Amino acid sequence: QAKVAGKNCYRFYSRAMDQAVERRVQLEQDLRGAWDRGELTLAYQPVFDMRANRLVGAEVLLRWQHPKHGMVAPSVFIEVAEQGGLIETLGPQVLRIACRDAVRWRTECGQPDALFLAVNVSPRQLRGGDFAAQVEEILAGTGHPPSLLHLELTETAVIGDELRVSGLLGRLRARGVKVWLDDFGTGFSGLSHLRRVPIDGVKIDRSFIAEALRNPDDLALTTAIIAMAHSLGMTVVAEGVETEGQADLLRERGCDYAQGYWLGHPMPLEDLIALCR
Ligand code: C2E
Ligand code: MG
Ligand code: MG
Ligand code: MG
Repeated sequence: QAKVAGKNCYRFYSRAMDQAVERRVQLEQDLRGAWDRGELTLAYQPVFDMRANRLVGAEVLLRWQHPKHGMVAPSVFIEVAEQGGLIETLGPQVLRIACRDAVRWRTECGQPDALFLAVNVSPRQLRGGDFAAQVEEILAGTGHPPSLLHLELTETAVIGDELRVSGLLGRLRARGVKVWLDDFGTGFSGLSHLRRVPIDGVKIDRSFIAEALRNPDDLALTTAIIAMAHSLGMTVVAEGVETEGQADLLRERGCDYAQGYWLGHPMPLEDLIALCR
């Protein structure tokens, strides 16, 4: 009896797995034509200086409106794009359009020499071909100032490949591009790469911010990350600030910048222009 049940179980799981694979393959296929069909758009989330209470930049976030499934979360389709090798074309497309948008946004806000653009970079983009040359080409082509570009990397992009990644980031940093570590605190790597890879700032993961008011351990970690980053000469952004209480607490602990729903949701370019005006 148990054997039969086991067999059925196996069949059930294998069918569920087939369906998951099928869905992924279908999504990947859909994603290939998504730019041309106008389904992909860019959203911009404002970043604020906590002390000066002032807009300092924005992070670009990719959005996919699927004709059948509605909005697909980036956590789902970015992974699909990475596994299917699509990120190598998607990544530079986002960078190019966002740089062009940012030039316009700064001009229309009357701040041509300020306001940074933060762009997420997948591990796979760093591994492929000549990432540094690609970024330089896009900066030159769009007229976006290198010093106002922030590249956001996760720890997984850096782990195991520190020497090569340091080299290509060093080349971009020599031109003024800033490098940030995203979702900081969630990896288990901790401080060791901060010595080996050149980094300008860290973004404290929103899971710490969400609990910082309630959980003393999360508050202690957040405070420690801020102190450590500052002692290494880095800037600190808190992500996922959803309440005034969190913002007050972070300001009190010396956090430099903040980003989150309480300050502003990701929004279309036109809304960002209206906001900074
Ligand atoms: P991320 O870079 O850590 O981006 C921050 C995420 O937190 C965004 O999710 C943003 O919408 C969300 N967020 C911002 N404020 C709040 C808040 O107050 N509360 C909560 N709960 N969430 C908040 P989103 O847009 O779903 O993106 C998820 C992830 O997908 C990003 O995490 C990033 O890793 C990746 N991603 C998005 N766009 C791109 C892209 O163009 N290229 C690459 N490589 N990755 C991207
Ligand atoms: Mg990010
Ligand atoms: Mg993040
Ligand atoms: Mg994230």
